[in-house]
Amino acid sequence: MIVQVAIPSPLYAVFDYELTSDIEPIGCRVKVSFGRQNLVGVVLKVIEQSEYKKLKKAELLDTAPIFTEDMLKLGQWIAEYYHAPIGLVFRMMLPQKLRKSEPYERSSETYLTLSDDFSVWLEENRNKKARVSLVEQLAEHVPIERSQFCGLFSNFKAHEKALMADGIVQYVEQYPEPVDFSEHVFPALPYTLNDEQQKAVDAITLNQFSVSLLEGVTGSGKTAVYLELVKRVLAKGQQVLILVPEIGLTPQFIERVKSILNIPFVVVHSEVNENQKLQAWEAAKHHTVPLVIGTRSALFTPFDHLGMIMIDEEHDGSYRQRDTVRYSAHDAAIQRAHLLKIPLVLGSATPILETLHNVERERYQLLSLNERAKGQIPNWQIIDMNESMIMDGISVELLNAIEATIERKEQVIIYINRRGYSPVLMCEVCGWVPECKACEYRLTVYRKSHSLRCHHCGYSEALPNKCPSCNNALLKMHGQGTERIEKALQDAFPKANVIRFDRDQLKNKTAFENAVKDVIAGKVDIIIGTQMIAKGHDFDKVTLVGMVDIDGILYSSDFRAEEKLAQTLMQVSGRSGRDVSHGQVVIQTHFPEHPLFTELPQQGYAKFARNLLEQRQHFEFPPYEYQALFQVEGQNEQETLKAFEGLMQSLDCRDYPVGITPIYPNSLSKRQNYYRFYVVLQSKSRKALHQLVHYLMQSAANHLPSQIRHFCEIDPWDFD
Ligand code: ADP
Ligand code: ZN
Ligand code: ZN
Repeated sequence: MIVQVAIPSPLYAVFDYELTSDIEPIGCRVKVSFGRQNLVGVVLKVIEQSEYKKLKKAELLDTAPIFTEDMLKLGQWIAEYYHAPIGLVFRMMLPQKLRKSEPYERSSETYLTLSDDFSVWLEENRNKKARVSLVEQLAEHVPIERSQFCGLFSNFKAHEKALMADGIVQYVEQYPEPVDFSEHVFPALPYTLNDEQQKAVDAITLNQFSVSLLEGVTGSGKTAVYLELVKRVLAKGQQVLILVPEIGLTPQFIERVKSILNIPFVVVHSEVNENQKLQAWEAAKHHTVPLVIGTRSALFTPFDHLGMIMIDEEHDGSYRQRDTVRYSAHDAAIQRAHLLKIPLVLGSATPILETLHNVERERYQLLSLNERAKGQIPNWQIIDMNESMIMDGISVELLNAIEATIERKEQVIIYINRRGYSPVLMCEVCGWVPECKACEYRLTVYRKSHSLRCHHCGYSEALPNKCPSCNNALLKMHGQGTERIEKALQDAFPKANVIRFDRDQLKNKTAFENAVKDVIAGKVDIIIGTQMIAKGHDFDKVTLVGMVDIDGILYSSDFRAEEKLAQTLMQVSGRSGRDVSHGQVVIQTHFPEHPLFTELPQQGYAKFARNLLEQRQHFEFPPYEYQALFQVEGQNEQETLKAFEGLMQSLDCRDYPVGITPIYPNSLSKRQNYYRFYVVLQSKSRKALHQLVHYLMQSAANHLPSQIRHFCEIDPWDFD
């Protein structure tokens, strides 16, 4: 037969191969020779005839399809919508272990069984009490997974050999059975759902496509609603996928899933090893687990019978992938729910404007949680940095508030979204500023490790003692990062325990989890953190949140700047006073008159965001129009720009109702040795936009010299 295969190459086409197969090969992997390489492709289609005469032979690697039908369609949708090479999309959707050109066999488990004549053995061995009791237990459980039985009866291992030697206990390799939790009795809830929560749960109909926005401030009880919904889906014998942000997977969340549902589930994130990922993949595919919780790539878990998808913190940036295949897992998840005809729930205290727009257009259903289940919304105090006394970036007002809080034995969070000690080192005499050569971006000072580091490529060098340009020793550090705030607060409050939450300090999930534990155990007084601190942890003892140096984003030209800062302000301030009535938020800014500081605290995010939406409509920005970004990168600045200009001039765009900006350098104009330029395409018509992007991508492939790379991003979120 002739098959069309998606092959992991940067090309956009599918390729025809000759295949000999007894089974329906669609969704199976094949080994193909492509150019001079052997690659693993995925069969998308069986066709009658090929345009090409001499077809190469493909070799079937699987005995059953790896991709389910919805996954095949999802992959094709991603390739088409995001203008991504289809072979790379399918490769991305496979677990690492299946990207190798090796046959795949589902892993089996070792089960224990008893020989038929075990009752005879029992008669003859009455005196061996321990063994008899084990065999009697086995008789009630067989067949049972060996690991499970060992868990139940820890003395089994001591007698295992002897029982095997007698031939009474035997091993059988078999696949785990699918599970069904439709009859499962869930533990009693530690609370009763309030009216809004109950309404939200009842508003979602199973077995039909819908998107619902669960909008509620932090602590309003969204997680409680998710878990209640999981129960309903499980009761139908179906499975659930919950997507969470990169660092939103906290032990607290996992604990709650365990205690409220008491079911097996698997967790998939970047630090889970490849064996475990494959196990999770198999468990979902064969329905031996009813619930998968995971970060972005967990969207590509195959399910036997998926009944609902939930996306927690739907506004979170980590749902967008910005390399190889540039896609949004948030939007692709909606597509998957649509393909499967199942409901999808988006949860957030600060939904993105695109989502709110879809609520207004009645494409999504709105489920609001307005009562805070526990605690109250904290008060905001705005400090005018132009008027206040500032020491090391911290105002007297904030210092006083910190002092009062730690005296009450309560905890403080100080948010600053910049790592390191200081973002700028400058020579007072000649104005020299150290830059990364690969990125043309100033290096961040790290004082403890006495180094300068690039936050874009990881380059680092020793911190100089004097200016390499004029030899003067008058190097001054301007501005602050987490490390400097940490030192300043440690100096100001020498008895306080200060902990730092950022990627430099907490390098992996374990370090992060331990830090969270310390905070919950009350071992910490002051927490200094970046964005990392903004994700749904339930820190009950935090009653003060200070936000320093947040103005940066307001200087940017990003039309989403206000939306993003509003989200951050709400998320971070939501950490304060979750459990007591006197939560306090202190915000330092040079723009105290900005609506973000005057209107947002009065109106709350929901209303403020809807006002922003009106502005977007007025200025004809997304979500009222659609955008695509097209970027060109090369190692020679002039050559890259010239090639880009030549490409744009060669296009005939007259027939497309699409606006195109001039060519701009990115705000980080050189990154990892590549100079970067972009244009933004914008249109009221999605169709026209996609057509023009298609045309542009084709022209780029034909026009641009091979050393110059290019890509597009649909619905771009950042323009850095
Ligand atoms: P969110 O996910 O919106 O931040 P959670 O679901 O985590 O909110 O709820 C916040 C806290 O309130 C949790 O400690 C949870 O156990 C508790 N909670 C949730 N719903 C209720 C309720 N109906 N009654 C009492 N407590 C509740
Ligand atoms: Zn100098
Ligand atoms: Zn760099």
